[in-house]
Amino acid sequence: MKKIGIFILLLCLLLCGCAERKKTSRSLFCMDTVMSIEAYGKNGAEALDEAEKELKRLEKLFDRNNRESDVYKLNNRITDKAEPETEEVIDKALSAAADTDGAFDITVAPVMDLWGFYDKHYRVPDDESIKNALKSVDYRNVFKSGNGFVLTNNAKLDLGGIAKGYASSVTADILHRKGVKSAMINLGGNVYAMGKQPNGKKWHVAIADPDGGSYAAALYAENEAVVTSGDYQRYFEENGKKYHHIINPETGYPANGKIRSVTVICADAARADAYSTALFVMGMDKAKDFLRKHTDIGAVIISDDKTVYYAVSQEHEISFSDGVRAVKLERE
Ligand code: AMP
Ligand code: MG
Repeated sequence: MKKIGIFILLLCLLLCGCAERKKTSRSLFCMDTVMSIEAYGKNGAEALDEAEKELKRLEKLFDRNNRESDVYKLNNRITDKAEPETEEVIDKALSAAADTDGAFDITVAPVMDLWGFYDKHYRVPDDESIKNALKSVDYRNVFKSGNGFVLTNNAKLDLGGIAKGYASSVTADILHRKGVKSAMINLGGNVYAMGKQPNGKKWHVAIADPDGGSYAAALYAENEAVVTSGDYQRYFEENGKKYHHIINPETGYPANGKIRSVTVICADAARADAYSTALFVMGMDKAKDFLRKHTDIGAVIISDDKTVYYAVSQEHEISFSDGVRAVKLERE
């Protein structure tokens, strides 16, 4: 009798273990990128259904191409009201803009349009057009008003630099609410490592080699976002020169700060997304300075001479691909 009891107990433990490790995954094309989510444990399928629905809803709110979106309506002065999620993401964007002295600036929309990143008819604009477009680029043209925003000086919003990070944190919240404790959320390079891997180890996240090699570095993460902005993610070529999609709001040209990619690691995924874009814009020297002062975020910067500068905590156990030159950034 005792033996049967032990057998049943072991069977239960085994089945529970299997349930915890059960993998459910989903890929979708949303927010102009491929998204993939792996969830482990029970309720995975239900959680992913809900996450997918929410991601598509957020896409509709933030897509400035879509006449029904909050951003389209704000940009075209149809209303100054916004849904709570749009309000939250714009609030976070404005606070990142203030923190980064405007290196992150969601009013870059008119400049993005000029370079053809909006209609995908890429072209190098003339200086005069850039100068004109820059007249309305300033995050201080966005004012909070009730449950929405008023835009002045012809300002237009582009949430492309923060939307996916924000969406990854919303996804994690949904999975968490549904009882999923372990998940890997990857929304087009915006990674959120939720909990630990089912085998009890932290998630191991690779940082891409900007030239398409296998990877440059890798680090362990748990309940935090690992977000990369790189010049290789979206670009076009004209007369043998590459033009990427991360714009310096001061010049109106693709940021040219001797950086190939910036990865930011922090618990707040929207902030990680905004900061990775901002550090890229700042360029090597200012970015290093910023990281010395902001010890609450981790970062890995790959410079144009392929040196990997890193400022991460010991728990991240960062490692590097063979042959990579790695330099630790000292912090205050
Ligand atoms: P990311 O890939 O997160 O670095 O964001 C790049 C995207 O953010 C671009 O495709 C634009 O939609 C937008 N963007 C470009 N430059 C900036 C900037 N300086 N500040 C905020 N958003 C930007
Ligand atoms: Mg970003």
